[in-house]
Amino acid sequence: MAYSLILGYLAAILSPLIVLSLSSPQTYHSIIYDTGRHFALTAFAILIMQVVLAARLRIVDRNFGLNNVFPFHRNMAILAGSLLLLHPFLLAWGGRKWPLVTFLDLPWYIWVGRLTFLLLLANAFMSIFRDRIGVKFETWRLGHDISGSLILAGAFVHSWYTGGDLADSLPLRVWWLALIALAVGLFAYHRLVRPQLLRQHPYRIMEVTPEAEGVWTLKFAPPEGRQRFDFHPGQWQFVTLLRGRGLPEEEHHFTISSSPAEKDFHTSTIKELGDFTSTIGQTEPGDRAVIHAPFGIFSHVMRPEVRDLVFIAGGIGITPFMSNLRHMRDTRADKRVLLLYANRREADIAFRAELAEMEAGAAPDLSVVHVLSRPEGDWQGEKGRLDQEKLRRLCGRERLDQAMFYVAGPPGMLEAVISALQDLKVPDSRVSVEYFAF
Ligand SMILES: Cc1cc2nc3c(=O)[nH]c(=O)nc-3n(C[C@H](O)[C@H](O)[C@H](O)COP(=O)(O)OP(=O)(O)OC[C@H]3O[C@@H](n4cnc5c(N)ncnc54)[C@H](O)[C@@H]3O)c2cc1C
Repeated sequence: MAYSLILGYLAAILSPLIVLSLSSPQTYHSIIYDTGRHFALTAFAILIMQVVLAARLRIVDRNFGLNNVFPFHRNMAILAGSLLLLHPFLLAWGGRKWPLVTFLDLPWYIWVGRLTFLLLLANAFMSIFRDRIGVKFETWRLGHDISGSLILAGAFVHSWYTGGDLADSLPLRVWWLALIALAVGLFAYHRLVRPQLLRQHPYRIMEVTPEAEGVWTLKFAPPEGRQRFDFHPGQWQFVTLLRGRGLPEEEHHFTISSSPAEKDFHTSTIKELGDFTSTIGQTEPGDRAVIHAPFGIFSHVMRPEVRDLVFIAGGIGITPFMSNLRHMRDTRADKRVLLLYANRREADIAFRAELAEMEAGAAPDLSVVHVLSRPEGDWQGEKGRLDQEKLRRLCGRERLDQAMFYVAGPPGMLEAVISALQDLKVPDSRVSVEYFAF
């Protein structure tokens, strides 16, 4: 299925060229000029597909994991921007002459194209450097939605009035209208209709439990008269807490930390990190939550044939592993699991007692190794960072040669572990990574 989707995506972004070559196969222009036209047509289709990629489609999530699609979405924006940057230069070079690029006194629809391109550049720049500039996520997302809509509208208007391709080809004009209708329809459903539908059936907070220093577990009850959604262990949810009391109402991603075998509730375990999560301890039983779920593919059930697993967790990256381990325990799964759990201090270790209990239980065959980077007192366990030496020693050659590795945690730790696993000759096909930030 994943390959069919990739082919479908390629067909979609090349669809304007396919329609054009079928409807108007003849060209009277130079190759350079035609390349410039084709770049713009392809860039328009890429922009349409950006909306499709961002619309949280189940079929996309099931095959690639939604959180893995967002970096692809960003890279495709960069590709579209590059094609559009080259577009006027190639047209000028290929026959339209340089005033197209240098003159100010040009028709309004050329200016629409220029401004759309500048907006796309600004949009991509903000998306890449948001964190470094210090723009709040919610402010960025609102700006991204508004500028994204203006970019699509601008690209549509520019191509409709400027391009000879559209003027000469009725099939291409029809296809253009179909593409923009798809984007507008999906965007309206994703950003306006679906949030309202989800709000009609909010979940209820049953309990708020401290789990470690600055870490809280929220327990959610399904909406009145409804069943909880089904999910795979390790999947995540979009949560918007409706708490009132002046507390922020924002949508955030949180992994589901409970086992799918618990049918009457589910939980997320959340670490105080920034402006929103630092209010998580103020959530109270009875508060409501809008939930859109489940998403993600970071789950042992996606590879049922694998028996030997190594889970590597950094800090709050433990949450998907708790869900996976609890599910293995509840289903008495015949799995052998080594959990390497890295934290700064002992006080940061969440679920310590439950992990010890699972280690002593029959299934799964679990071994837990705690690794502390800044231990206090007389910590007798592993110290320092999870580097190549520790991974080699703790995993052993047998696991390095055959186990499936799952890694979740803060970006710095993820990069270090992935690179150490590569140095230890563990192929990428046996490493699954969950990014908690984009
Ligand atoms: C797939 C996935 C699963 C996650 N699971 C967990 C979990 O189980 N437990 C947990 O504690 N954390 C989890 N996180 C991380 C959690 O989403 C962020 O810590 C939280 O959104 C930070 O919000 P903040 O405003 O408190 O922090 P800030 O300091 O404002 O933001 C820190 C970073 O979080 C991201 N972020 C902030 N606001 C949002 C938002 N509204 N939507 C999306 N991203 C945002 C941005 O990249 C930002 O740079 C997960 C993230 C992802 C992507």
